[in-house]
Amino acid sequence: MKPVAIIGGGISGLAAAYYLGREGIPSTLIEAEARLGGVIRTDRANGCLIEAGPDSWLARKPWALGLVRELGLENRVIGSNDDRRKTYVARRGKLIPIPQGMQLLTPAKPTAVLASRLFGIGTKLRMGLEWLRRPAEHPDRSVAEFVRDHFGDEWNERLAQPLLAAVYGGPPERLSVNCVLPALAEYERRYGSVVRGALKNRPAKAEGPLFLTLKDGLGTLVDALQKAVAPSSRLVRGRVLQIERAGGGWRVRLADGAVETEHVVAAVPAHEAAGLLRRSCGEIAQVLDGIPYNSAVTAGLVYRRPGFDRPLDGFGMLIPRSEKLSPAACTWVETKFDHRTSDEATLLRVFFTGDAADELIDAGDDAVQETAHADLSSLMRCRARPAACRINRWPQSMALYTVGHASRPARIGELLQRLPGLHLGGNGYDGVGIPDCIRRSQAIAAAIAGHGVGRPSRDDSFSKIEGCG
Ligand SMILES: Cc1cc2nc3c(=O)[nH]c(=O)nc-3n(C[C@H](O)[C@H](O)[C@H](O)COP(=O)(O)OP(=O)(O)OC[C@H]3O[C@@H](n4cnc5c(N)ncnc54)[C@H](O)[C@@H]3O)c2cc1C
Repeated sequence: MKPVAIIGGGISGLAAAYYLGREGIPSTLIEAEARLGGVIRTDRANGCLIEAGPDSWLARKPWALGLVRELGLENRVIGSNDDRRKTYVARRGKLIPIPQGMQLLTPAKPTAVLASRLFGIGTKLRMGLEWLRRPAEHPDRSVAEFVRDHFGDEWNERLAQPLLAAVYGGPPERLSVNCVLPALAEYERRYGSVVRGALKNRPAKAEGPLFLTLKDGLGTLVDALQKAVAPSSRLVRGRVLQIERAGGGWRVRLADGAVETEHVVAAVPAHEAAGLLRRSCGEIAQVLDGIPYNSAVTAGLVYRRPGFDRPLDGFGMLIPRSEKLSPAACTWVETKFDHRTSDEATLLRVFFTGDAADELIDAGDDAVQETAHADLSSLMRCRARPAACRINRWPQSMALYTVGHASRPARIGELLQRLPGLHLGGNGYDGVGIPDCIRRSQAIAAAIAGHGVGRPSRDDSFSKIEGCG
């Protein structure tokens, strides 16, 4: 077999190269940027470890840990400090903790909601009445519509909106409940009430931390993969301009040449894959074009200790848009994970998405730093300006699974049946998190090796995506 052409050297492309190599199948990995890893990158400043993109993966999704183990990195894995897990929501300039026992948007401990200052009496009464709902079948609808229907506006504005912005980079008005919160949609179908569903399905005592990462940062995973794929995968630096059919196979065009192959894996965002395929495979390109993406900007702000007058007694805060501040969320890094800060300095990781990211994506580092610090300084009671800062821009990087998205992977699967040898990896289809991307690439490699279908079935996908962490 000719080497498989893999376009994109993010986690999806690297994982595809790794699993193909394990099958004895050579590949050519083509990456446009000077470094591999895509949105995964680990920086350091003033003794702090700063994740430029993702900071961890959800522990209950096994594919990332599986790969990490194969790479011999298991002894570098650390878990989130869940004994200190508390997330605040900003409200009128103050920070209010999310009620205990909240599983994403589901109140698995209703008494904690009743005692919470986050919601008014009307919302608490609605939660009580929600208990009486009868099982119902609904076509897919937006998370906002679902949440308002079950718990009212406050629940959407104070919880769903900032949480989805932080986890999915998108607004609840657009995101599909069936795709991003399938458990809630299932509770509605089975029990009517999501409160009852959550109580009936309350997980047994957690067996480990919610999030996992690597002690020296996720960049270690990229480095280990790069090393592991070197014997079987040739790295080509360059931007792919087009994928076209060539005889029974495929031609991958770069500015200064082309690669011919039987199998090509486009491990890039769906909009990029659409652009590459538009000329030769217009129908599938059109479907891929329909998958919207949002941009994200992260700012790692390093402060000399003590840094703030407010204690870092939680994983961080969510900032609803009603607060009229630019950041969507801020992680108090040293509380969430050990080995991230020093005796002299501490770190806040600020996350912008949606309109704020669109405004800041072309702004200079100083302007982004100023916005992040100014917007947080009163909530955090900052004592001084940051001593260092790392800004990272991720244009059109976060796939939005909008209402109706659940039918797209099947439609794309049908179209791919007619394009043998073409494979689509990445976060645009059936899971946005790192483990989902790894799972998809593993399935693609198995299909190319001839012992797998290669396209995850719906059961294999939507039941497992729920949150990228
Ligand atoms: C800010 C941020 C925070 C996140 N946080 C988390 C988290 O905490 N946990 C989690 O599980 N997930 C998180 N995610 C999601 C997850 O990180 C991504 O979905 C995943 O890493 C995407 O990997 P990928 O390889 O599919 O795509 P990418 O990382 O986007 O890589 C694609 C690669 O393809 C290259 N490329 C693109 N076009 C071409 C071309 N034409 N020719 C050649 N090369 C090309 C790009 O340069 C890039 O290197 C986060 C995402 C973002 C943006």
